[in-house]
Amino acid sequence: MIALKYIMVTGGVMSGLGKGITSASIGRLLVDMGYKVVPIKIDPYINIDAGTMNPFQHGEVYVLKDGTEVDLDLGHYERFIGVELTGDHNITTGKVYRNVIEKERRGEYLGQTVQIIPHVTDEIKSWIRRVAKESGAEICLVEIGGTVGDIEGMPFLEAIRQMKNEEKPEDFLLVHVTLVPLDSSGEQKTKPTQHSVKELRSIGLQPDVIVGRCARKLEEGTKKKISLFCDVPVEAVISAEDASDIYEVPLMFREEKLDEYIISKLGLERRESRDDWENMVKKLRNLEKEVKIAVVGKYVDVQDSYLSIREALKHAGIEAGCRVNVLWIDSEELEEKNVEMDVDGILVPGGFGKRGAEGKIKAIEFARENDIPFLGICFGFQLAVIEFARHVIGWSDANSSELAETTHAVIDLLPEQKQVDKLGGTMRLGDIEVTIKPGTIAHKLYGKEKVYERHRHRYEVNPKYIPEFEKRGLIFSGYSDGGRRMEILEYPKNRFFFGTQFHPEFKSRPYSPSPPFVGLVKAALGEF
Ligand code: GLN
Repeated sequence: MIALKYIMVTGGVMSGLGKGITSASIGRLLVDMGYKVVPIKIDPYINIDAGTMNPFQHGEVYVLKDGTEVDLDLGHYERFIGVELTGDHNITTGKVYRNVIEKERRGEYLGQTVQIIPHVTDEIKSWIRRVAKESGAEICLVEIGGTVGDIEGMPFLEAIRQMKNEEKPEDFLLVHVTLVPLDSSGEQKTKPTQHSVKELRSIGLQPDVIVGRCARKLEEGTKKKISLFCDVPVEAVISAEDASDIYEVPLMFREEKLDEYIISKLGLERRESRDDWENMVKKLRNLEKEVKIAVVGKYVDVQDSYLSIREALKHAGIEAGCRVNVLWIDSEELEEKNVEMDVDGILVPGGFGKRGAEGKIKAIEFARENDIPFLGICFGFQLAVIEFARHVIGWSDANSSELAETTHAVIDLLPEQKQVDKLGGTMRLGDIEVTIKPGTIAHKLYGKEKVYERHRHRYEVNPKYIPEFEKRGLIFSGYSDGGRRMEILEYPKNRFFFGTQFHPEFKSRPYSPSPPFVGLVKAALGEF
């Protein structure tokens, strides 16, 4: 058993440099060398979690198995490192201060003045160490969100500085991710990197590794300059040029020998050389077939809003041997026009509220009527139920009580939820067991009768209408809560018309794709 090691990842110059992908890729490299890794994401914002955050601003809200709503970087960790995380793996300023204030109210500080140093920093350090120990991992990877110099991040960086002094030198490594921009003549500029390292040093931290994000591979001269000015060996300056796919990044780092450098600094040895990631990327590079899938949503301009959907489509494509080209369609724009789409499949993802909902319903109608493979997720599942009620059964006023008052509330809150109906208060979140009926398409896809999938919703299929739906051929092939809640729908009359109340995209992995996505992509290829 080795001593627990810590790798801290900070970012300089600006946000959006791909620190999350860098951290996830480092995690992957360590896994490939035979180590057990636990990642932690620090988000210095004051929000307790990402549940209330707007996807327009922040990208998608990712849901963990315990129902915690987090930043999309946790999704990268799960996909790259192959772990399942909980709310414990996401530390926010809100959570840290909440703990400190609760302790203060309980009198645990014995009358002291409660301060950022040491009380807040102690809380941060003990949180990191507790999660690392409880996980049984050998290496704990901590990504500090934001940019060095942000006011919000200061207590976290101070905590990290203290940890550096408290841990043995071979048990602690700091990776700094910065930007190396190109000037108008295409020259790689190192000044922003120098400044951000200076900023780090001013708070007592010196990076061990510098990852330079650049449009092009870092030149030898650029690396030497960074090495000289920032006081890191030249082999610890790592080039991270723009990649054709994020799954290429671990391999790119391996080519830069980052894996070797990290383990030697941590006094470790390569235990094995796993190649499943590399094999997956090789498949990804050599996809021969192609399909076009329309994703009809509200946040299509901000593609990170549907990040896990995009990744899950890619995973299914790797399995099916085809490249999935995604056509992003703004559902609001569909409302004014005749829907006409030249695509192999249509996906309607999750969502909230009225805006664009009717456009999504039109897209679903188009898919059903033209027998185009369709996957509806969460809101998309609910809207498929509404579409069917309106156009097949003939209840023209059918709707969800989230969207309108109607006599045919085919999507509604369950009675007990109506009692406590406060926004967000009754959300059903996280892993829930779903029972699948044998002999259905769902059963063919999953190959088993019990699955655990992640949820994030409040409304349900209204149980009183189910017999009528089934009479007309819309089958509910998966359920939960002893049959009170419908989880999967299918319309066997079509080639593939499928919906899930849960979010299968959160459990899809590049090397083990989510069954409903595989169904959609294979159906789009004409192979289902
Ligand atoms: N708005 C719907 C509900 O609350 C669907 C939520 C979702 O798609 N995540 O039930």
